[in-house]
Amino acid sequence: MIIIKFGGTSVQDVSSIRSVINIIKTKLHKQPVVVVSAVAGVTNQLIESARCAVAGKKEESIGILNNLRNRHLEIAEDLIKDSGELDNVNKAIDDIVTKLANLVEGVSLIGELTNRSLDMFAAQGELLSSHVIAPAMKEADMAVQWFDARQVMVTDDQFAGAVPNIPLLADKCRTLIRPLFNECQVVLTQGFIGSTSSGVTTTLGRGGSDYSAALLGAAMDAEDIEIWTDVDGVLTTDPRIVTHARRVKQMSFREASELAYFGAKVLHPATIIPAVEKNIPVHVYNTKNPDFGGTLIAATLHLSTEAQSSSCVIKSIAFKKDITVFNITSSRMLLAHGYLYSIFEIFKKHKTAVDVVSTTEVSVSLTIDNLENLDSIVRDLSVFSQVQVESRRAIVCLVGEQMRKTAGIAARTFGAIRDININMVSQGASEINLTFVIDEKDVDTVVKRLHDEFFSGPLPVDIFE
Ligand code: ASP
Ligand code: MG
Repeated sequence: MIIIKFGGTSVQDVSSIRSVINIIKTKLHKQPVVVVSAVAGVTNQLIESARCAVAGKKEESIGILNNLRNRHLEIAEDLIKDSGELDNVNKAIDDIVTKLANLVEGVSLIGELTNRSLDMFAAQGELLSSHVIAPAMKEADMAVQWFDARQVMVTDDQFAGAVPNIPLLADKCRTLIRPLFNECQVVLTQGFIGSTSSGVTTTLGRGGSDYSAALLGAAMDAEDIEIWTDVDGVLTTDPRIVTHARRVKQMSFREASELAYFGAKVLHPATIIPAVEKNIPVHVYNTKNPDFGGTLIAATLHLSTEAQSSSCVIKSIAFKKDITVFNITSSRMLLAHGYLYSIFEIFKKHKTAVDVVSTTEVSVSLTIDNLENLDSIVRDLSVFSQVQVESRRAIVCLVGEQMRKTAGIAARTFGAIRDININMVSQGASEINLTFVIDEKDVDTVVKRLHDEFFSGPLPVDIFE
């Protein structure tokens, strides 16, 4: 059994859904459970419709719903030729839109939008897309069974971010999903949605479909989990800077986590924790480029001896521009305790995440990328320190498990960019990443040189394309 999850852009129009169907067709022998997201943009539109309803803009709200109905109908009409099937889809879409229209009435009448009602809206996107895709698969000669994920994904009642009951999920998958394969080749279900034990619809939080896929995979002891999205998995660096950047075929979960801050576009590692805990390999593929091969993210990698002894220690070079550095100095810091606490308390108070930190005995440097509360932060810090703020900086990060066992990485890194001014350096005790801060204008030079330094020799073929 495998899980194949398709994100919103993978099912955004007729041609994307055709690609999806072709991809699924090649995997039927593996007993796939297919998890789909809403069509791209639809979840946002559903939420917008709910917001209009509570603001008393009923017409606008219904207008959004009608657009959604038309968009799904148009896709269905292109994909499904059998008139009986098309009638069924029409009816399913109509039922959903009618139910939403009633909700709009209710919400605008009461003038209140709870997370519980909001989930009722948001959850319909996955139901709509799956109602269109299942018959389209049938039309492509697949024996498919549509399945309502809410039957197995039982959650608590923290609406808009509900927590699934994992043991119950495993039980229900065994009794409700497994037996379906006696009659069909593939099961199609929805990501993102669940239901409380009393049957009220919930969602796992925005972007929750990857999490659904990982949960289902773990619950069913899947052999593999495939996440199909719109990027080529992980590359050695950004191909806009290094055109010959290579594909990283395998990456450990820890490496992927280190890159999360830079490449959340690929996949947020936190969402696949259920799979990692069970040691289930997670593959990231591009629906628009299905032959590219993607990246495997796994708890432990099975590397050839060539790869293990290779001098190639870095997996990927990531960077992020538009970073602001704080240099915070105070003579009071010397031998004092609680100083770092008082600094971080201010960032917490202003809800600003701190990313890279480095400290000496008299100063603390740190970076942020959210400038919303910059002035208040500076004001509060200035009460007990001298603060200097530098903008237009960039974070560069080198990641690789092998770094841990290898001496001389820092020398090679900084040797390759010896003429570049380095602002801050940080290497955690995990030793699988080296992070430093430079001037934004130096990013291209630095990334190119480091890519040459670490990736120009022969690379182990089981790790790099
Ligand atoms: N459709 C949901 C969202 O847009 C879940 C997902 O796509 O992962 O948040
Ligand atoms: Mg989405």
